[in-house]
Amino acid sequence: MVNPELLEILRCPACVRTTGGELVLERDTWLVCQDCHRKYPIVDDIPVMLIDEGDKWIESRVEDLPVPPPPIS
Ligand SMILES: [Zn+2]
Repeated sequence: MVNPELLEILRCPACVRTTGGELVLERDTWLVCQDCHRKYPIVDDIPVMLIDEGDKWIESRVEDLPVPPPPIS
């Protein structure tokens, strides 16, 4: 389980300086940016806030995201 206080302050790194990049936690394992729809996996309780990683899932629907997320290579 990820620290809820950490989730409160996390923002999408691609949007934080422009639109805000507010994230919504989906299925306890994904953080979905409400602005650009990049999706950041939470792997071993660590949110992976990499734009390149978020890019991989930008076209995926939330319901199609793998749970648990695949390991980051
Ligand atoms: Zn974003």
